[in-house]
Amino acid sequence: MYYAYKYRLKPSDAHREALDRHRDICRQLYNHTLYRLNEYRENHGELPSMTTLRSELPDLKQWWDDLSDVYSKVLQTVVERLFDNLNSLSKLKENGYGVGQLKWKPPREFRSFTYNQSGFKLDKKGGQTVLSLSKLGDIPIRLHRAIPDDATLKQVTLKKEPTGEWFATFGVEMDREPPAKPETPEKCVGIDVGILKYAHDTDGTAVGSPDLSDERERLESEQRDLSRKEHGSANWEKQRQVVAERHATLKRKRRDFLHKLSNYYAREYDLVAVEDLDVKGMLESPSNSRNTASAAWRTFLSLLEYKCKREGTHFVAVNPRGTTKECASCGVSTEKPLWVREHSCPACGFETDRDANAAWNILSRGLEKVGVGHSERTPVETALPVDTDSVSAKRVIEAGSPTLTERAASAVSE
Ligand SMILES: [Zn+2]
Repeated sequence: MYYAYKYRLKPSDAHREALDRHRDICRQLYNHTLYRLNEYRENHGELPSMTTLRSELPDLKQWWDDLSDVYSKVLQTVVERLFDNLNSLSKLKENGYGVGQLKWKPPREFRSFTYNQSGFKLDKKGGQTVLSLSKLGDIPIRLHRAIPDDATLKQVTLKKEPTGEWFATFGVEMDREPPAKPETPEKCVGIDVGILKYAHDTDGTAVGSPDLSDERERLESEQRDLSRKEHGSANWEKQRQVVAERHATLKRKRRDFLHKLSNYYAREYDLVAVEDLDVKGMLESPSNSRNTASAAWRTFLSLLEYKCKREGTHFVAVNPRGTTKECASCGVSTEKPLWVREHSCPACGFETDRDANAAWNILSRGLEKVGVGHSERTPVETALPVDTDSVSAKRVIEAGSPTLTERAASAVSE
């Protein structure tokens, strides 16, 4: 399995200068290669292969002296990156390649470069852990958590954040099976990601959104300060850094919460059922607040899917059509405006929280999809309506999970 470990670098001023220089040479190579792609296509009527472009690198070095200052494999990954971008673009545009759509990268948009397979290692120098990089030297690194001994370091990406800080992200391969979970899932959960509550599940847990209003306020006040400064002045540049740091803090806190919540579900359960948001997005009319919320859901679900894979947990995305209207007990649909927070079925009398009802529908669709069947899991038989246990996001952040079970306790350390 593939894992990512991210650490902060502690570069000296000289290191910073060298890192920035490397970054800029890679950027220029990226732009040059993009130019070559277009030129080649004009002459040959088709795009060159990645191998063709990579094989041009030695010739390029003949006249482009700066390239020799960068480790050769790093240059190769620049070419590969361009092809990756190209591929994701052509997936979007089924007709033609859309090379013209790929843009030249100005400095602020080209923030990282990668050592693949070789040219880097972690080392100890003078009692300090350093990241030893070919052509760049030994850069102190803060290993706030260890990479497991049995891990193979596949690559490292050096990235400069808008705050000016540098980070190293290791791509690591570990030869381990996901923890053993029953072939037929036993502990199953359906999760409804809602508007008022962050997530509502079939075990009666409702987790609220994290309160980040303080962080947001601070960011806004720094942004106001920035707007009062003369654009491009030294003070403006200083303030721009402060704003970037505030942005980074807000983003980190939000992600931290989503990491912990997704860890909890992936470790605690054998099967996790959620709504397929790609379908949901098409069903619902977009508005601004909804878009913000759905961006967070998307992040949550992609983290959840990845972690479920890591933990050997079934991840099922179900059709969201009618999950709110349908009665989880008898299946009869009832119109239900947004402000009606309770589900009260006129056909069978089943009563529960609106989101709990949706979560039950999501779970039974999920079980059906993996062929487990849902008869034993209907809410009536498990004596629903459940008392909803409302959990603040703060508790998730501090304890690492909404409930304290044995499995959840191990989810605290991500
Ligand atoms: Zn009913």
